[in-house]
Amino acid sequence: MPRLAPLDPILDGAACGYLSIDETGTVRAANTTLAELIGRPRAQIEQHHIDTLLSPAGRIFYTTHLFPLLRLHRRAEEVYLPLRNASDEEIPVLVNGVARAADEGTLHDLIVVPVRQRNELESELIAAREVAQQAAAAKDRFLSIVSHELRTPLGAARGYAELLLRERNGTLTDGQRQYVQRILNATVYQASLIEDILDYAGQHGQRRTLEIETLELEDVMERAETLLAVRAGEEQRALRREPRSASGTLRGDPRAIQQILLNLGTNAIKFSPPDAEVLLTSDVSGEVVRIGVRDTGTGIPDDQLDRIFEPFVRVDSSAAASAKGLGLGLAISRDLARSMGGDITVESTLGEGSLFTLELPVG
Ligand code: ADP
Repeated sequence: MPRLAPLDPILDGAACGYLSIDETGTVRAANTTLAELIGRPRAQIEQHHIDTLLSPAGRIFYTTHLFPLLRLHRRAEEVYLPLRNASDEEIPVLVNGVARAADEGTLHDLIVVPVRQRNELESELIAAREVAQQAAAAKDRFLSIVSHELRTPLGAARGYAELLLRERNGTLTDGQRQYVQRILNATVYQASLIEDILDYAGQHGQRRTLEIETLELEDVMERAETLLAVRAGEEQRALRREPRSASGTLRGDPRAIQQILLNLGTNAIKFSPPDAEVLLTSDVSGEVVRIGVRDTGTGIPDDQLDRIFEPFVRVDSSAAASAKGLGLGLAISRDLARSMGGDITVESTLGEGSLFTLELPVG
């Protein structure tokens, strides 16, 4: 069975392979590009059955997919078809085909493009996905260790310290009471660090869904003042609110707002000297409600103002070194503020103090 017509030189040397197959599956023409792709002379391709060029999977795809498409729809696009080369290796290609009526019956003309590159990209994507899945699994393991292995014994230590302080099983001497109180303080502090880590990890995994409500600014300020007054009192700092009462409404999740203000307020207390004053302010302007936490403490160097919002970043100073913390509070707070449609900004002068402002949408 001779080849139907000599191949046009442009088609013969085209940048993609070309095959013409009749309805019995016999290859009636193949170009040089295709012959080179599968490493066989054209004489071993033309007049042979298409099956001899296909890998076992390719034969299945050809019979169940490509051939029926060309038969029924007279065209096929981007059909995956693994070929087989002279060394019996699989060569993945994509095929576009059209059916053409010729004197000797219908011919299927196929354009063949190797997809080595696509396969490499796919393998890279699959590898990247596996790495990400492993990292996620490692994070889950880490979180379960933190939450169970650390939190549980800490809870027990805290509980027993509280029991001892109640003196149900005998009275403590003053010295003993002091030691037990220190144990209790240490466990409370450690527990708050663990909560911060879980919170931060949680936010970057499955975040607790925020419940956005319209809130009275006055209620928000009053709660924050009550919460912070306890801390300020413990650390001998004064807490003041200006103006004394606030009007207006805002939108946000009440728990998240209190968490942010507690973080900002605790920092203000932590990074200012004893007897210093921490000032809580609030104002509504246009569409934005601003709640300020101002201190007269150490201040923050200009070049660190952006960095302190990054997780685990603490300013390298003697104040930060003596103040306890992991450097997660601001990262958590800013994430929360932004997910409520707001933000946190900071102004600070070294040696004079800082002003952190929580901005939230008006309600
Ligand atoms: P932490 O307080 O646990 O260190 P934060 O994320 O809350 O973590 O704060 C990060 C760092 O930003 C602090 O370690 C401190 O160096 C600096 N910082 C935050 N608030 C203040 C403040 N009011 N005054 C001075 N420095 C502050």
